[in-house]
Amino acid sequence: ITFHNSAHANHLKTTNGHFDSHHETAGNPKQLIGEALRHRVESIDHDDCEPGEEDAFFVADLGEVYRQHLRWKLNLKRVKPFYAVKCNPDPTVLRLLAELGTGFDCASKSEIEQILSLGVDPSRIIYAQPCKTKSYVRYAAREGVKQMTFDNADELYKTKQLFPDAELYLRILTDDSGSLCRFSMKFGASMDSTESLLALAKELGLNVVGVSFHVGSGASDPKAFLKAVSDARAVFDQAANFGYELKTLDVGGGFSGESFEPMAAILSQALDDHFPPHVRVIGEPGRYYVASAFTLACNVIARRTIEDPAEVVPSHMLYINDGVYGNFSSIMFDHQHPVPRILTANKRFLHDREEAEYATQPTTKYSVWGPTCDGIDCISASCYFPENLNVGDWLYFEEMGAYTRCSATRFNGFPDSHDVVYVSSEPGASALLGL
Ligand code: PLP
Repeated sequence: ITFHNSAHANHLKTTNGHFDSHHETAGNPKQLIGEALRHRVESIDHDDCEPGEEDAFFVADLGEVYRQHLRWKLNLKRVKPFYAVKCNPDPTVLRLLAELGTGFDCASKSEIEQILSLGVDPSRIIYAQPCKTKSYVRYAAREGVKQMTFDNADELYKTKQLFPDAELYLRILTDDSGSLCRFSMKFGASMDSTESLLALAKELGLNVVGVSFHVGSGASDPKAFLKAVSDARAVFDQAANFGYELKTLDVGGGFSGESFEPMAAILSQALDDHFPPHVRVIGEPGRYYVASAFTLACNVIARRTIEDPAEVVPSHMLYINDGVYGNFSSIMFDHQHPVPRILTANKRFLHDREEAEYATQPTTKYSVWGPTCDGIDCISASCYFPENLNVGDWLYFEEMGAYTRCSATRFNGFPDSHDVVYVSSEPGASALLGL
């Protein structure tokens, strides 16, 4: 698919999408994203296009990823980020992060492979999965990916057999009750088991180098880090009793764009209170880096009008070409509530002007549904838009970069991979990518 026109734009194709370079508008991300949405939508002949040409697509602002990185460095100086690939393994985002010098948290063989294929040194990877597939451990050993986590005795025996030189992080349990996605029912050694695990590691001659934790994804309570950091300190001290001089603390993920500064301040203070400067600290942020960088545009494929005698005006059900089995998998798996916004109404392009437009028009109740045959495939049970939204119009959804595309399925034969139009609102990001 090629992507043309715009008087000032210079469009460069990348391996998996299109780079839409508008350096002169680099100061205004919203406008840049709006232009990319408009170019793509206006290039589609809705009455005559081939099947799939009107598929949902993303606009990714690499400048936003770049800004998040600078923000991290400013607020969490001590913590080196190892981006959690599972959150969004977009190849261009990974390439940008590799250029920015982050490390990577990988959960499987294919994630490790993807990162190594970028030319990243294996020492910049942590295989942060306490319960690993044996053949993947052999693969990690072959490739020299030494850092990995464990939280149980069986994993230590496995490591002894397959990769005795691995650099092991003992993952401890946290209180993740304030998080959107909780992990502690599945992973993490309780504080009353850490001593026996360290004793076993010692007995097996294994190399424990650090402690890790995860306060849960989408953590809302910055204080979750306080207890986790002090528990980690206790495990560092326990390890010293077994002759281990631990070098690294891994504070996991759980960060989000909204609450980042207060969380970073509390974490930084806790780190300084408990760990001297020679202890290396790493983190595994996922959502923080990518959630806000991706906008998803979806086409309205059908509309059903509901005449309810109890209501003065009819309402509408809108069916769009992406749903909970696709990129809105975040509704089921990540407890998100994506907000539909109007890109075009009655074929008029509104992005960013829609609020002003709504103010002057009477609104109608809509619900928004995905394209599959399943009733669970509902994106918004109720929202209010002007009356004139119809088949062929487009909606868009912001904040669609985290835990969306990575968990999409092909249910009902719909695609699980969609085009990404890349823009960069930061010249620094474009320069790093050579665009
Ligand atoms: N590290 C591990 C081990 C995880 O399981 C996850 C998420 O599942 C992350 C990091 C990333 O978490 P977040 O996106 O909340 O930063």
